[in-house]
This record gives sequence, C-alpha cells and structure tokens, in this order.
Amino acid sequence: MATKYVYFFGDGKAEGSAKMKNELGGKGANLAEMTNIGLPVPAGFTISTEVCTYFYANDKTYPPELKDQVEEAIAKIEKAMGAKLGDTTNPLLVSCRSGARESMPGMMDTVLNIGLNDTTVDALAKSSGNERFAWDSYRRFVQMYGDVVLGMKPEKKTDIDPFEDLLEKKKHAAGVHFDNELTAEQLKELVAEFKAAVKKTTGKDFPTDPREQIYGAVGAVFGSWMNDRAIVYRRTYGIPHEWGTAVNVQAMVFGNLGDDCATGVALTRDGALGVPGYCGDYLINAQGEDVVAGIRTPLRIEETLAKDMPAAFKELDEIGKILESHYKDVQDIEFTVQRGKVWMLQTRNAKRTGFAAVRIAVDLVEEGKITDKEALSPKRIPADDLNQLLQPVFDQAGKKAAQDGGKLLTKGINAGPGAAYGQVVFHADDAEALYLKNPAVELILVRRETTPEDLRGMKAAKGILTAFGGASSHAALVSRQMGKVCIVGAGDLNIDYEKATVTVGDKVVKEGDFISIDGFTGEIFEGKVQTKPSEVIQVLINGTMKAEESETYQRFAKLMSWADKYRKLKVRTNADEPKQATQAVSFGAEGIGLCRTEHMFFDHVDEFREMILAGDLESRQKALAKLLPFQRGDFAGLFKAMGGRPVTIRLLDPPLHEFLPHDHASQSALAEKIGIPVDTIARRVHELHESNPMLGHRGCRLGIVFPEITAMQARAIFEAAVEVKKAGMDVIPEVMIPLVGYIAEFKNQEKVIREQAELVFKETGVKVEYLVGTMIEVPRACATADQIASGAEFFSFGTNDLTQTTLGMSRDDYGGFINHYKENDIVPNDPFQMIDQAGVGTLMKMGVEKGRSARAGLKIGICGEHGGEPSSVMFCHKIGLDYVSCSPFRVPIARLAAAQAAIADMK
Ligand code: PEP
Ligand code: MG
Repeated sequence: MATKYVYFFGDGKAEGSAKMKNELGGKGANLAEMTNIGLPVPAGFTISTEVCTYFYANDKTYPPELKDQVEEAIAKIEKAMGAKLGDTTNPLLVSCRSGARESMPGMMDTVLNIGLNDTTVDALAKSSGNERFAWDSYRRFVQMYGDVVLGMKPEKKTDIDPFEDLLEKKKHAAGVHFDNELTAEQLKELVAEFKAAVKKTTGKDFPTDPREQIYGAVGAVFGSWMNDRAIVYRRTYGIPHEWGTAVNVQAMVFGNLGDDCATGVALTRDGALGVPGYCGDYLINAQGEDVVAGIRTPLRIEETLAKDMPAAFKELDEIGKILESHYKDVQDIEFTVQRGKVWMLQTRNAKRTGFAAVRIAVDLVEEGKITDKEALSPKRIPADDLNQLLQPVFDQAGKKAAQDGGKLLTKGINAGPGAAYGQVVFHADDAEALYLKNPAVELILVRRETTPEDLRGMKAAKGILTAFGGASSHAALVSRQMGKVCIVGAGDLNIDYEKATVTVGDKVVKEGDFISIDGFTGEIFEGKVQTKPSEVIQVLINGTMKAEESETYQRFAKLMSWADKYRKLKVRTNADEPKQATQAVSFGAEGIGLCRTEHMFFDHVDEFREMILAGDLESRQKALAKLLPFQRGDFAGLFKAMGGRPVTIRLLDPPLHEFLPHDHASQSALAEKIGIPVDTIARRVHELHESNPMLGHRGCRLGIVFPEITAMQARAIFEAAVEVKKAGMDVIPEVMIPLVGYIAEFKNQEKVIREQAELVFKETGVKVEYLVGTMIEVPRACATADQIASGAEFFSFGTNDLTQTTLGMSRDDYGGFINHYKENDIVPNDPFQMIDQAGVGTLMKMGVEKGRSARAGLKIGICGEHGGEPSSVMFCHKIGLDYVSCSPFRVPIARLAAAQAAIADMK
C-alpha cells in the first residue's frame, strides 16, 4: 500500500487525531481533534512531517505519491465547502500554514487567500457581495505570496519592503491612515502595482493557476523549516532538526467581510499571570495576520467582545470550556467570526510564564480538572521556569519616587512579568553583539513592533518593549516563554530608528540611555528604578512579607508540597556559609551536599598564605594552628544552621598557587622595554592564558603530601561537631575526600581523618557519629568504584571535574569554542550545564553499579553544578542516586525536577 502522506479533516470527521502530533504536527493534529469533537473547523488537509523529511533528503523534491493524494484531498475540501478551486462563480480559497510537533510561534511561513487571480477575484466580489473585500483579499495574497514564496521579503533591516512601500504611498495619495480606508478602486490599482513589482524583481508574471499557487506555498512552508530564525528557535528549545514540519492546507473563512466579522487569538486563561477567564485580542473586519502582526492595536476579548458580538462571544465561551475540559489544560486558540459564525482555526496548549504556569496548575487541581500529579508535569511547569517566581520586582519606594519625580514615560500592555532596567537598544543584532561582548550588559530591546526576527536580540536583552502589537503578538508570546520582562503596544512611544531615539511627548530617550520597565503593570520609566526580590523571596528569605499576604507564595508552597510527596531523590545544597545554608533550608534543602572548605579561607588569607609558604613541617604546623580555630568556628556555624541535617564537608581541594598574589614586576619591565602600556600587556597575557585545567597538585594529593593539613581540617570538623553536640544539637558530619582515583589515596586520607576523630573524642569525652566518603570526579574512580567503595562510606559525583576529565575539555577554557560547537550542532548543549549523559553519564552509571556491588545501599549523590539542572536531575534519578546538591536558589527547581522524574517513572 502506498504510504499515506495526506490526512483530510472536514464535515465532522478527520483522518487524524490529537495523538498523531509526530505525523501531523501540533496544529494538524489539533485541527483533526477539534473536527472529531464536533467543533466548527473549516475543511482542509495536512501533509505529514514525513514529506518534510523526504523533501530535505531528496534535494527539495516530493514523494511521487504525494500529488494524487493532494488532488484527492482538494476534491474533498471542495465537496465539504461547496466551492471549487478557480471556479468562476464560487471559488474555493485556501490557506497554507506550517505546523511542527512542538509549536514554534511565528518562526515559519504562512500564505493566505490562495486561489485568487483576476477571474476568481470578480467571482469572490459577487459571491460575497463585497467588491472591496475581494480586492483587499487579493492585495494581501499577492503581497504575502510575493514575500514568502517569491522571496521578496527584505533581508536587511535597512531594506524596504516593496509592497509596504507601495501601500504607504497609496494611503498617502488617498489621504488615509489605515488600510481599511482604501477603496476597491484604489486596491485594484495597488494589486496591479504589486504585480508589476513582482515582474520587475523576479522577471516572471505572478502565477494565476490556483494549483500552482498551492504547490508554491507548500514548498515555501517546507523551505521555512530551515530558515535562520526557525533554526535558532529549535536550538533554544531543544527541538530536533530532523522532526520537520507538517503543512496544513485549509479552506479560508473570512473575518474581513464586514462589521459582523472578526478575527482573534486568545488564551482560555491569562498566560502572563494565570488569572482565570479569556484573555486575548480581536479585530473587527480584519484577517488573522492583522492581530498577530501588531500593525493595528487590537481590542481585548475579555473587555468588549461580549458587547460587540454577543452571540459569537457566547459560542466562543462554550468552545473554550469544551476545549479546557477535553485537553485538561489552558488553550491558545485562533478563531474567525464570519458573518456572526465562529470558526476555529487552531488550538494548542498555551505557552505561559512560569508565574502563570504555577497558578494555572494549582487552580486546575482545585477546580478538579487535573490531579496534583498531573499538575507537576514538566509540560505544564518546566522546572527551570520556577525561576520566574524568584524574579525581581521593582522596589516600591524607588518606583514611587520615579512616579512622583515625573519619570513615568508611558504605559503599555503587560506581556511578561518581572521588573528590569537596562540600556535602550533598537536592533536585535546590535543587542546580540553587545551581549556577546559583555554577557553582563543590561539591555532593553525597544522595537516598533515585535517580530519573530528579533529572537536572537530578545535572548540577549533583559526586557523587551514595543510600541505596537497586542499581548498575543508572536514575539510577545516568545518573550514570555523565555521568562523575559516584556511590555508591548505602548502606542505613545515614537521610535525613530534612524536617529536612534524614542520620544514620548517632549521627552527624548537616546540609544544607550537607561529605562526601566514593569512587566506586571506595563509601566515604562526613564532612568533606573531599583529592583527587589520576588514575593517568594520576600516571604522565604528576607522575611519582609508574611506568607498569608502573598497568594503567589502560597501557590508556590502548595506546588512544592506536592513535589515533595512524589520525589524520591533528596535535595541538598552546596553552601559554605551559615547564611547560605539557612537560605537553602528555607528553600527546602535537606542537608549540605558540598561545603568547599577552601572558600572559608578567603577571610583568613594571610594565615593561609603563611601555611602555603612554610618551608618545613614545623612552620606549617604553626600556621595550621592559627587556622584551626577559624575552621572550627566556621564548621560549628554550619552545623548549627543545618539543625541536625547531614553536612558533607570536603577537605581542601584547589591547587595552592590559586591563593598566592600574581606578580606584575616582569610585566612592567617588558612594558618599559617595548613602549606599550603595561595594562595592554597584562590584558593580552590574560586573554592568551590557558588556565591550568586543574590536574596538578590538588585534591587529595595535597593532603597526602601534607597530611598535617588534613589533620587540621579533620580536627576542626570533629571539635566543632563535639561543641555543637554538647550544646544539645544533633550533628552528622560527612567528611569528603576530593579527587580520589586510587583506593590507596582514599585509605591514606581516611586513616588521618579517623585518627583525629578518635583523638578529639578521647580529649573531650564526647563521640559523634560521622562518615568518611569520597568525591567521584575522575574516570579512574568510576572504573574502580568497587575498590573505592570497599573503604568509602558514601560517594558524591563531582561532575564539574568528571566532565572536564572525561571530555578532556578544561572547565575554565572551553568558553572560547563552546558557542561555536552549539551553533554547529557538534554538541546538543553545554556539557558543563547539562550532564553529557552518553559520555559522563555512562561513567556515572558504572560508578553507581560498581560502588553498590561492593557496598550494598551505598549512599550516592551529586554536587557538581549539574545538580540543579532539570534534565541532569532527572538523569540522577534514573541511575538511582540518593540525592542531588545544588546552589540554594536552585533547590526548588531540583525538588520539582526530582518529582517530575519520579512521576515519569510511575508510567
Ligand atoms: C566538581 O568537580 O563537580 C565539584 C563539585 O568540585 P569543584 O567544582 O569544587 O571542583
Ligand atoms: Mg571537583
């Protein structure tokens, strides 16, 4: 049987369903599903993603069977809609849209009104009884087809779109402001001018055959899968290039036939904050692209649609309820009202901010629509998105001062929550260049409209601000998804790209000036308004707000309690100071997984340098004696802050030269000799310097060569533990030896540690329970984990070092090429952020299996930076670790990711 490439939907029945996203893409699968559940969907067909794969594998050609299947499906649309392609009395018009498995809003191309030519336009004028509408549709079609299929869209920011230019001139000549004020006659002239522009640019006449138009559009949509912005989007969101897009060809319905028509996009709940109830934009007498393109500022569905079109609003409200119950999630819909009747053009699970994600998930549980387990799904709340609840807001006093001081420039639509200040930048590529030069730069990208081309610049900016467009414009959706502070549709902004200024009334802000934007309220201020932490931070960390005053905090806490119910992994924190430890406990940390003792020496660097520079044992011991009370005090502080929870203390790890001053004397001499500033040489030396990949005299090698250092640290730990125990508190120290590769290394250090323990217990008459374990951070430790586990009472994977030693990639120097690697798909992600599961992960698995083969139930954790990254946390769950340890602010993310991993396991 021939492979099926084309799936029809219409007349209440569809060949596909929501389950077929891989074949039909998200849009195609949901059009099929909506058809099957009886919602009003214009008939159409979906060409499967397999055709896209074939297209790229076969030099942009199609499978031979495709044409017949498309013809058959066109015939079915014609039957369902009672109209025919190219017909002189009742012509069928179709749209052609992309639709990948995961939605990629605005990244690929669309063509509407396919089927129009000089004959069918007259028929459309007659059948619709509206000549102006017919010519307006034709004008839009020639423009879109010219841009998308014939490649006339400008590529550079300075190029002029020939169609926009002609349209502007026509409006100017007619003395009108808006497209909808042009008459049928003027639109006819415009179509002729557009076609002449096509002939001039491409050397060919504009195609008149509707079938040729359809195939042209299908090819352009498949072609747009590989455009730059789609590639960047996929890389950002980890969508594989091999998936390909489907193409949907669907009968047109019109929102621009008159004032009983409209077009709109909406979320069934607000996607910025998660407030229940429709939230969306519509335009009366317009086509869908007008709403998302941001050229006319749309009306709000929740404010005026019920009044403007009561019947349509009621129908839409019903449809929203059906969709939410059917999909058990908030939907993002596109619809058209044609002569009072609602038609559904799309539905998909809505993108939302982390903020909204938490509220929506908790609300849906409380409404009885989903279970708490379903609420925790990573599709609803990607664990990283919890970051947004920990986002800064404006300092109230600072904001009031800005308001009182007349610094409020204007207000727009609040499209992405959070508060940000930054320097104004007008072009996305400039923003990207500034960011690449200095990743700490703070930028607000200010644009007239939000367009998908701005993606790279949006990633580089802290906030996004536009003069036009609604809350559902493509780029607003994308910026929200990125968790960026975003304001759109601030119509008072007068942006002059040439002069690089934005003017509001008599106030002028230049490129590079600071502005501040409040993504919760839509307010825009001149200058810097200081930000302050989120409500969750205020309740949990600063104590400046009570739990009962913050609904946001209460929902966060509820979600975290559900996560704790399901997760199997424990979550610890990496902390070296009591303050950090206390914060981490507030975030839910269950212990310390890594205390880097070297951080404690920064406050006592003179004594520490004395110890390093000591020439013999006696003088080293003298210096160590000075360090002992400091260490003891620091450890006691940590034990107290952790209130009986386990604390893993790692013995001294980094190479000692790191603590010594760097000498500039020889650099100065060279500077004098060749006559260039010493700073220039120093900077150059720094740039060229290849950091020591830290494979020298460090880790347990230090303690083996200088056992007195280990003895001092062990003594400090046990004396502190005894002190805390005597004060009536529980304490469980876990002493951890770094960089072990040989069991002999472990045994050597273990002996020193246990000797000190016995001495301290004898001296004080108090005993504490303790463990001696090791980090697993070199490949040899994984390969010989059974031997090492014969001595070690616990393992903790140091995946920072394990990554650098497994990949042979220095953790300090890889920044020079890793972006190139990512952009060229050499590596899927940064291996120092996400565990390289195939390489490093395989060694970890070996370490776990061998370790537990020698010591059943061996406690194993991870304390590398990966311990707070969701995909790595999930991997740690999969290979059976007992805990992950991460920085305090990532503890909630790790808790959620751990629950998501455990729930995924239950399926
Ligand atoms: C590691 O290597 O993963 C680790 C936690 O130790 P450090 O980063 O201090 O080398
Ligand atoms: Mg390490």
